[in-house]
Amino acid sequence: MTEELRVADPPTPAADPQARDLPLDTHLHTDQSFDSQVPIDVYGAMAAERGIAELAITDHIDFDPGWSNYKPDFRAREAIVRAAADRWAPHGVAIRFGLELSYESKREEEIRDHLRHHAYDFVIGSVHISPASPYHARRVAGWVAGRSLAEVVAPSFDETVAAARSGLFDTIGHLDSIKRYLWPHVTPAQLAEQPELYEPMLQALVDSGTGLEVNTSGLRQTPMETYPSAAIVARFRELGGRRLTAGSDAHRPSWFAHGLDEAYRIAAAGGFKELAFRRGPGERVGVAIPDRFLAR
Ligand SMILES: [Zn+2]
Ligand SMILES: [Zn+2]
Repeated sequence: MTEELRVADPPTPAADPQARDLPLDTHLHTDQSFDSQVPIDVYGAMAAERGIAELAITDHIDFDPGWSNYKPDFRAREAIVRAAADRWAPHGVAIRFGLELSYESKREEEIRDHLRHHAYDFVIGSVHISPASPYHARRVAGWVAGRSLAEVVAPSFDETVAAARSGLFDTIGHLDSIKRYLWPHVTPAQLAEQPELYEPMLQALVDSGTGLEVNTSGLRQTPMETYPSAAIVARFRELGGRRLTAGSDAHRPSWFAHGLDEAYRIAAAGGFKELAFRRGPGERVGVAIPDRFLAR
């Protein structure tokens, strides 16, 4: 009896984590951010090659004089982005001039004044951790010890509520990226068990008409899930949230559009048919989520 030759299953091709054929990535850092060295044309070329139709360049700006992107030259940045937009438009890639602003409630008036006098196409407000933050690697274990989860997240979540209530931003970036700093002292699963901790942030977004970002950088960091998770995106919709954005938060070429398919899937599963965007003063638009995500 001859033994039947078993044909091995063909190797599963490694999933390409960098998305193709999507209309929009709204969170990208270039060499205009201290923590990125990517020339803007690298993203332009990748977008043309991969079929990502529209990009928001959202380099950092900080208002704390001790931080790395303290009030950079607006005109110089805008000139770089607009020139790149002109170069890439003929290749079918639209590039918008955005920013990711580090929100600090104690500097809200200064931030408001800056945004009043500088016309960006699209504005992300994010709560970032400072060197003095309780989530800093040197002190996070001590911060978590003996505190309830509500107490643990309060410094970040309360500040995020204030960012949303300020009404200054098109969207709030990486809502719960403290998952990254809390791990492994607090896991994403533990946070998922107390979704009520997110309600004040989501309600503030809904009340102020501010967008929620699905940020995919968490997929390549220790939490291994988006900021925030699919369940929180769905809850945002339930509460009346209608403005959702999706960004890869790339700081390197290999992160461009990384995990963005997953963000679009999460958006569609949460009941969204379009993503929110702004292309300059007064130009709020909805960008349709491709049919392939909507088909159940
Ligand atoms: Zn950020
Ligand atoms: Zn960012």
